[in-house]
Amino acid sequence: MLNPQIRKALPVYDKILDQEKKPRFKLNKKLLDEKIKKAYKLLAKCELCEHKCKVNRLKGKLGVCGVGNKIDVSSYFVHMGEEPFLVPSFTIFFMNCTFKCQFCQNWTISQGFEIGHTFTEEELAEIIDRYKHCRNVNFVGGEPTPYLPFILKTLTFVKSNIPVVWNSNFYMSEKSMDLLKDVVDVYLSDFKYGNDECAKRLSKIDNYMDVIMRNHLLAFKDAELVIRHLVLPNHVECCTKPILEFIAENFKDKAVLNLMDQYRPEFKAKYYPEINRGLKREEFEEAEGYAEKLGLNFIT
Ligand code: SF4
Repeated sequence: MLNPQIRKALPVYDKILDQEKKPRFKLNKKLLDEKIKKAYKLLAKCELCEHKCKVNRLKGKLGVCGVGNKIDVSSYFVHMGEEPFLVPSFTIFFMNCTFKCQFCQNWTISQGFEIGHTFTEEELAEIIDRYKHCRNVNFVGGEPTPYLPFILKTLTFVKSNIPVVWNSNFYMSEKSMDLLKDVVDVYLSDFKYGNDECAKRLSKIDNYMDVIMRNHLLAFKDAELVIRHLVLPNHVECCTKPILEFIAENFKDKAVLNLMDQYRPEFKAKYYPEINRGLKREEFEEAEGYAEKLGLNFIT
């Protein structure tokens, strides 16, 4: 017996599954080459994300994300734990991140406490082709945005017509959003906060809401959109509810929301008393009830 929420989400799943059968990644080589040229130009004064560090990453200079001019991968594997309509998902975890989330659940990767394995674009493409039986290739991290030029170049070497999932914190610059257009099949966003103050305090990010809302609107126009939201303890009113309202206002039930309850205090969470505990059952029920009330298309 299907969970009623999953049943409600099925029409969107079907659309995504159809998408996967006929990937949108139909850019001809010339257009993709143009995108790559623009992307490498951005690297010389890096503006791939909204930090806009303007460092010359081609020369190996590092900005906030700490990514230079190489592809550093923490791991890759066939992921069976993603949303049901995305698995099996061939997932590549890139090192480092543009955010400094104090409670990061994946902090050894995102904050560079591991040593990545370095690959060339050709090597990465060859690995992706080995997993072409998967439903998609899922670029995640850490965060994939600092690697966007290398990912585009990798795709020129991939022989299989495997759909692309962009699994990200959504702090891409507008120029990066333009590069992703017509390349991505499914945007998988991590919508964390419902206001700028919480984003600044817990992830050290400026101008969070404007950037994240803009990118969700652009992504929705371009491809399928699946939004993840990890409910944080004591942040239902200030973060969860405004996010759900934004989704209701802009996408109604046309985007799938994955409401997640698996928060645990990790990394530096102990320095922030309100998030230094697990999520209470009643907090998650409050979030679920609100999503239901707004008529969202959500899974848990
Ligand atoms: S990707 Fe973002 S954080 Fe990294 S160097 Fe470029 S602008 Fe800075």
